[in-house]
Amino acid sequence: MTAEGSDPRSIVGAIDWGGTKLLVGLVDDEGRVLASRAVPTPTGGASNVLSRAVELLRESLAEQDRSGDALRGVGVTVPGVVDAAGHVLKYAPAHGLRDVPVARELGMHVGVPVRIANDVDACALAEVRFGRANFENFAWVTISTGVGGAFVLDRRLFRGGGLAGEIGHVVVEEGGPRCGCGHLGCLEAVAAGPAIALHARSLGLPARSAQDVAALAASGNLIARSALERAAAALGRALAFVQNLLDLDAVVLGGGVARSLNFDVIRATLADRVLPVPGRHLPVLRLTALEAHAALLGAASLVLPPENH
Ligand SMILES: [Zn+2]
Repeated sequence: MTAEGSDPRSIVGAIDWGGTKLLVGLVDDEGRVLASRAVPTPTGGASNVLSRAVELLRESLAEQDRSGDALRGVGVTVPGVVDAAGHVLKYAPAHGLRDVPVARELGMHVGVPVRIANDVDACALAEVRFGRANFENFAWVTISTGVGGAFVLDRRLFRGGGLAGEIGHVVVEEGGPRCGCGHLGCLEAVAAGPAIALHARSLGLPARSAQDVAALAASGNLIARSALERAAAALGRALAFVQNLLDLDAVVLGGGVARSLNFDVIRATLADRVLPVPGRHLPVLRLTALEAHAALLGAASLVLPPENH
């Protein structure tokens, strides 16, 4: 049921296709999530994921007593590289996917325009549209099972040739741990959740995950604390490169591991390494307020009408 006088097509479908979780919801133009469903990401290929997403979208519409006609469009975030038009998932090596025509396949089922974006880029777009702060120039950094980044410059996502923002592969420790990309000492190989847990185990801690390390640190374990501080310092070094190059207003952190890092260590490392100019302002460093819905809201923003300014 829609409120009297409201535009029946003022809602969009949003799909957050994650490596482990598939989140589907309905979002209005104020960024309210009206209904949502989360399931483990189906295995067996992209078609399984997309058909499950369509089912969840229909369930969400039914819950809201709406039909597919209510949708203005469907936005999708994907865990990989996307073509410039926002239609095709070009490459997602961790998932063995290449050239998946997501917009076309979904469009056949939902009958409305479909746009897709890289998941980290989408989080940055969500922060632009729905975040509490109004930063002109900022970096979004996701720290979870990997480390991803996106840059918003003059309130627009900077895509470069399509691969901009890969802060996870800035080298922060020469000769450091081997990264999934093949290089040594990338930020991701030091500060992502699995890297933190691996380092903690090498120090003798019984940690299967970064959450385990964080729990030990919270209970006063100094080794666990130092393991997390190593990751925080690595992030500070990477952000200092970024700050010297781009002089940003802010860095917004998301992802399950980010909140476990010591922000004082990140700030101090960053401050030590930027060009010292009298009166210089360092970027604001904060956790996103969008929580676990950041990517879902980013997906929605792909198909919502432009904001009126
Ligand atoms: Zn790497």
